[in-house]
Amino acid sequence: MATPVETKRRPKPQSSDVLRNVAAVTRHAATESSYTCDSCGGAFAGRPASAGLYVWTRGDEVRYEEPPLCEACGPKLALGALLSWAADFEE
Ligand SMILES: [Zn+2]
Repeated sequence: MATPVETKRRPKPQSSDVLRNVAAVTRHAATESSYTCDSCGGAFAGRPASAGLYVWTRGDEVRYEEPPLCEACGPKLALGALLSWAADFEE
């Protein structure tokens, strides 16, 4: 004999709950996809091309920050760091 399958019903959301959730998701998406380049200060939308790296210490605590860089500044800074490293290596 088959046992009846128990189904659970979620309470139907109120329209105000749905609108509140849509507004929260929209706000989150809008703030997540807008950045200010840490090098040139320009604003851009979408994912950062790359990020810088700041490291500092206070006592035993080590803090890291990876500020966003735009598509123009990311490659420039990476190439500059690579050339600087290569020049130091040749000396
Ligand atoms: Zn930039």
